[in-house]
Amino acid sequence: MKPAPFDYIPAASVAEAVAALAELGDGSKVLAGGQSLLPMMNFRLARPDALVDIGGLGELRGVQARERFIEVGALTRHLDLERTGVPGPLGSLLRSAGAQVGHLPIRTRGTFGGSVAHADPASEWCVLAALLDATMTVTSLAGTRTVAAADFFTTIFTTALEPDELLTAVTLPRLDESYRVAVVEFARRAGDFAIVAVMVACSVRNGVIGDARVCLGGVADRPVRSLAAESLLAGQPAGAAAFRAAADAAAAAVSPPADIHGSAGYRRDLVSVLLRRALERMAP
Ligand SMILES: Cc1cc2nc3c(=O)[nH]c(=O)nc-3n(C[C@H](O)[C@H](O)[C@H](O)COP(=O)(O)OP(=O)(O)OC[C@H]3O[C@@H](n4cnc5c(N)ncnc54)[C@H](O)[C@@H]3O)c2cc1C
Repeated sequence: MKPAPFDYIPAASVAEAVAALAELGDGSKVLAGGQSLLPMMNFRLARPDALVDIGGLGELRGVQARERFIEVGALTRHLDLERTGVPGPLGSLLRSAGAQVGHLPIRTRGTFGGSVAHADPASEWCVLAALLDATMTVTSLAGTRTVAAADFFTTIFTTALEPDELLTAVTLPRLDESYRVAVVEFARRAGDFAIVAVMVACSVRNGVIGDARVCLGGVADRPVRSLAAESLLAGQPAGAAAFRAAADAAAAAVSPPADIHGSAGYRRDLVSVLLRRALERMAP
């Protein structure tokens, strides 16, 4: 199908983009890589009156490395993060997660900010943002504000972004060398969205887990941290007993949706199996 008619506004700067969004109101949409928005428009699931194209805004592309965090520009492509030179456990996480986003043509066009703004509960970047307590930087004519990941994802395909706001960057904390990380997910075909995705980042010193972060995708209306698993991991020896207990607790604590891809029980079983695998495979 073809999309319904719409006006096309190419923005030459962030200021121009936010001015256009303010003028056009909630009938407009930001166009980034187009890898989610254009299919939705073609299926007439989205019918914006106007698209504000930010694709030419080079200042929103790329990763700025700081001492304690990195700032990912909203227009940074999935592939750029898959091939990132960010060192340490955060770099491992970005590479593993990036490699599992869709297919290569999607990874060369789709953007980190587009994924986060689209807020699919199984999206790798949304799960990663929730896992790391990312901070979103958002700009409008009224100025710039930041939103914590925990407040940003409000429900399926919905965020705290107002219609006149542009997501410009996402700040991710660097993980020190004690962290071990893993990304494990299950999809029926390579490149499909995960039915369930699991990401873990655990600080391990002298074989004992300190900070434990576990985030699940595809089991609720947004990415969810498994507090049940995190509390069972923290302070325990990093080994099979703690991993199994955490995986079982995480599965018991979720109430996943059922759809054509799998029942609630199937997703719950996936949480248990995938989380145990992720914990067993954690690497620096
Ligand atoms: C076949 C297929 C398989 C896929 N598989 C996966 C997968 O496995 N995992 C995964 O995570 N994704 C997957 N995707 C989606 C893909 O990652 C998209 O690229 C991504 O979801 C959206 O990024 P985009 O830059 O293309 O955004 P767009 O499609 O341009 O925009 C998406 C939404 O975000 C809004 N938006 C975009 N940028 C901003 C911004 N800076 N500020 C405010 N709002 C903004 C748009 O208005 C729109 O509502 C798949 C897509 C396809 C077609």
